[in-house]
Amino acid sequence: MAGDAALPERALAALARAGLAPRAVALVVAAERDAAAPEIHALARQLDRPLRLVAASTGAAALAAVAVPTPVAGAPKDPGDDGAVALAVAAAPIDPTTVGRARGRLAVVGLGPGAPGWLAPEARAALADADDIVGYQTYVALAGPFRGDQTLHVSDNREELLRARQALALAARGRSVAVVSSGDPGIFAMAAAVMEALDGNEDPAWHGVALSVVPGISAAQAAAARAGAPLGHDFCVLSLSDNLKPWAVIERRLALAASGDFVLALYNPASQARPHQLGRALEIIREHRGPQTPVVIGRDVGRADESVRIVPLGELSIDGIDMRTVLIVGASTTRTLARADGGLWAYTPRSYDGDGRA
Ligand code: SAH
Repeated sequence: MAGDAALPERALAALARAGLAPRAVALVVAAERDAAAPEIHALARQLDRPLRLVAASTGAAALAAVAVPTPVAGAPKDPGDDGAVALAVAAAPIDPTTVGRARGRLAVVGLGPGAPGWLAPEARAALADADDIVGYQTYVALAGPFRGDQTLHVSDNREELLRARQALALAARGRSVAVVSSGDPGIFAMAAAVMEALDGNEDPAWHGVALSVVPGISAAQAAAARAGAPLGHDFCVLSLSDNLKPWAVIERRLALAASGDFVLALYNPASQARPHQLGRALEIIREHRGPQTPVVIGRDVGRADESVRIVPLGELSIDGIDMRTVLIVGASTTRTLARADGGLWAYTPRSYDGDGRA
């Protein structure tokens, strides 16, 4: 389209030539095929008016629809019109929601570990704004209850890329969609799946979706808070799942992180399909850490069956550690402290020598 970069300036110039104030603009209309064009969004932002998309081309890249109090016959003739901007003048004020359709929205929403108090207000608002909620059934249940006018697209499969594509396709049709993830959506979760799905698709309608990522409290943060402050110094987050990477890579990273004396937060520690890998992972860690190293075992943190235990690495058994568990293995400086109400705190001092006087 002509003069892309300067579209907002061209629109303002066209309005000025027509003797119309920018504030008289009711809405910006663009063809759906231009939904991903940044300058269209820049124009709507600059005029601070809603953008509406129409299927058929208007002939111009953007049409600024203007409502003026006195009826004007037809659009003003703009001698400077280069085809990029057209003004349509209406005889009466326009309700933008009656023209074309809204730009679709997709929010990738982090639900936190499960406790309602750990769901960010922004995440709650994104869920309330959604026409459609897409997600794994357990997480959709956590995110509810939903209103009758909201449609749930619940799946019991773990195919994140399919879910990401489903969410993008719905939003590309103009829907407001929330795709939900437990914890933080950017940590081993849906945000990366949505980015991958978008990256692998050329459809401008997909790229025109207003996409946002709403963060959540991740499992390691939640377990750390319950246990004290084990992530108080440098730490490393690893997934032990070999679904998406070879086990050899996991072993290598574990060895490097353990030898680097990072605190280790281990996600996806064990599943029924791979019961022995956690044992091997602990073997690697034990080559670099003493038996007294505190380990936090957080299971269902923030949920009804929550359990958080702190055990020495030497006594850690793989029994009962499953996909609902996150492990935090201390560094050489991580220590424990008795709690007044019984039990232990675990913490990693901020200063490396651990004398508390950093
Ligand atoms: N996006 C999520 C992580 C998804 S990977 C987050 O940021 O928390 C799934 C893994 O996260 C699980 O196997 C488990 O290791 C961990 N996890 C998620 N929720 C948890 C919870 N409530 N309690 C303990 N571990 C949890």
